[in-house]
Amino acid sequence: MELHDPTADNLCQYLLAPAARTPDKAAVVEPDETGTLTEVSYRQLAALVDEYTRALEPLGLDVGDRVVVEAHSSAAAVAMLLACSKLGLPFVPVSPQTPDNRLLAILRSVEPALHARADGADRRDLPWAGDTARFGRSGLTTEHPPAPRTRRRRRVLAVDTAYIIFTSGSTGRPKGVVMSHRAIVTFLRAVIADGLVGDTDRVASTSPLQFDFALFGIGVALGSGATLVPVGRENLDSPRRMVNFLRDAGVTQVHGVPSLWRPVLRHDPELLKRLDKVRSVVFAGESFPLAELRRLQEMLAGARLVNGYGATESMAASFTDVPDPLSAEQRSLSIGRAHSGAEMTLVDTSGRVVTRPGVVGEIHLRSPSLFSGYWDDPQATAQVLVPDPLDPRHGQVVLRTGDLAYLDERNELYFVGRADSQVQIRGNRVELGDVESVLAQLPAVTSAAATIVPRGGDHVLMAGVVLDDAAAPFDEDAALDFCAQELSAYMRPRRIRPLADLPLTENGKVDRVLLARLVTTAV
Ligand code: ADP
Repeated sequence: MELHDPTADNLCQYLLAPAARTPDKAAVVEPDETGTLTEVSYRQLAALVDEYTRALEPLGLDVGDRVVVEAHSSAAAVAMLLACSKLGLPFVPVSPQTPDNRLLAILRSVEPALHARADGADRRDLPWAGDTARFGRSGLTTEHPPAPRTRRRRRVLAVDTAYIIFTSGSTGRPKGVVMSHRAIVTFLRAVIADGLVGDTDRVASTSPLQFDFALFGIGVALGSGATLVPVGRENLDSPRRMVNFLRDAGVTQVHGVPSLWRPVLRHDPELLKRLDKVRSVVFAGESFPLAELRRLQEMLAGARLVNGYGATESMAASFTDVPDPLSAEQRSLSIGRAHSGAEMTLVDTSGRVVTRPGVVGEIHLRSPSLFSGYWDDPQATAQVLVPDPLDPRHGQVVLRTGDLAYLDERNELYFVGRADSQVQIRGNRVELGDVESVLAQLPAVTSAAATIVPRGGDHVLMAGVVLDDAAAPFDEDAALDFCAQELSAYMRPRRIRPLADLPLTENGKVDRVLLARLVTTAV
């Protein structure tokens, strides 16, 4: 049976196109078992995809059957994702660090036809009796092959699901975001056409595989015929190791959440000067604290810093260059305008489109790269895929992002916070980001995060700060006095607690739920 239709957008076909043009070029650079950096060419990657496809095909899975892929980002993992794409099997990436309970919840929810684990992603004694396989550079073997089933589909279409990503839940309950081949391929084409990556780049991807930032790295690197450099946790846990690895691998572009840079900026920023080949840094997922970003810009002199904004529901929405130099007066970063092929519109609380500069509205994204829906949750889907507020009669849906922003005089957007995390304190609207940027100005404070703790039917603001020198004493009264000078009474944190580090989610974003627990137990 020929599943493959060359006219239909498919992630595998799109990302392996360089195998025909530049078969000998490195598709992936990664350390082997001994830690020596090795190149996997596009030809070798395509051969591995073929091998996995040949092993998966006889299992008789149908288009749309899910495969949970548990792996660190690597050439083998990329080949596995692409083999699934080729066969029309939506992949659900999870990392070997995913806690057992979360993995179980994902398995129970997506009911995969197969749980494929990369060699080295060991153990797990899960109370889940599903079918399993193992894969690595030497091939794919099924441990418990799925029972034979009837195939109802004959072709893989552009509207079929390419992957399902479970969000980290930093904005609420984790949801399975379903993305089609058409959505992801259209997105990658647009971003590459906008010039974010060039074919001579070596793109370091530092996010775990279950975060769509990792898929973004794989997508833009291979989609542009460049080289992907997956960076494992073992090379991220010390600033020196990270810098040496990036330098040895000849990395020219680095992808990561803002917290990726925090340890090196805090402990040994001068090390960054060794990264003289790095031409660009793409950060995304949350706001980059400006004091840290200025320092990064100073150390990586001349490198382009790019603010990637967006949500898993459309992979991303915009990529905006940070001004160089970033002036001392600047208080927030622009998220610019949507990437090619998409548009962002602000809508106020009464549903009217906002065009006046300075007025806050909710970002609505109009794009061919929107997700298909939340897995098994039509109600949640209907809340965010809404009729176009400009003219609902077209029947077109847009993504209601839940993100608040305003326009400046040049029509560029500025993110101000989440509609759902915006809190009312004694009847006043509070943006946690505003509180955090004041805390970050305290002397000897490296980074700060604020959170809301419910107390007696109301909310209380609390904050955690990380100090330049963890051993130094922290004068909480002086910090509270500073806030009293800078912030209106209702915006002042009740307590400010020093923390060794800001708590992070699995994906490296500030974990505000855990933060609330930490700052209250520290009292
Ligand atoms: P989760 O955090 O639940 O895993 P996402 O990764 O999709 O889900 O997070 C998307 C949200 O992260 C956006 O809606 C926005 O609130 C925030 N975000 C993403 N990028 C940026 C950015 N560059 N600046 C500020 N906030 C951002």
